[in-house]
Amino acid sequence: MQVILLGAPGAGKGTQAVQISKRLGLAHIASGDLFRQEQASGSELGKIAKSYMEKGQLVPDEVTVKMILGRISRPDCAKGILLDGFPRTLDQAKALDAALAKEGKGIDLVLYIKVPNEELIGRLSGRWICRECQVPYNVVAAPPKVAGKCDKCGGELYQRADDTEETVRKRLDVYFAQTAPLIEYYTSAGKLAEVDGEQGIEQVGRDLIKIIEARDK
Ligand SMILES: [Zn+2]
Repeated sequence: MQVILLGAPGAGKGTQAVQISKRLGLAHIASGDLFRQEQASGSELGKIAKSYMEKGQLVPDEVTVKMILGRISRPDCAKGILLDGFPRTLDQAKALDAALAKEGKGIDLVLYIKVPNEELIGRLSGRWICRECQVPYNVVAAPPKVAGKCDKCGGELYQRADDTEETVRKRLDVYFAQTAPLIEYYTSAGKLAEVDGEQGIEQVGRDLIKIIEARDK
């Protein structure tokens, strides 16, 4: 099973990816981790990726795709993979499909954790952090006992510039602009399945696993 997991920032994709891959014995391939591992190992692809990142440029899709193919050929991927964080754009999806097809492989399933924009904004812009001990709070989902104060140390809570509503809206706009064509692409390929991401974390996890298991038969 070669599975892609899609979800906007705040949709809980990372948490679900860790749990599902553990439960089903799939190798969890997070693109950010893969970059770091390749660079740490000093591989040729790692060096190429690093040269782009040092110049502040995006790593070309073909380099990332090669890294993923190399990763997929390792023994822990025998039962399947769960891709997290790649592809993000339609071009990347097409490059990945073309490369997999050359090896007689292909993506079996694309899972999309769907959460409405307003809910995501609420989740992401609710994040406040303690100035003293850095503990994060969410004023909606996990508020401190006393508004504006840390439960643990009484320190003042503040909001990072990244977490303000305006920044969050912009980040989500970029995400959805990139992802909409991706969703369309996998839908027309008959590979997309949506899960309601407004449910509790555990229910979302159960739904995702159910879909993967049904497709695996
Ligand atoms: Zn604190």
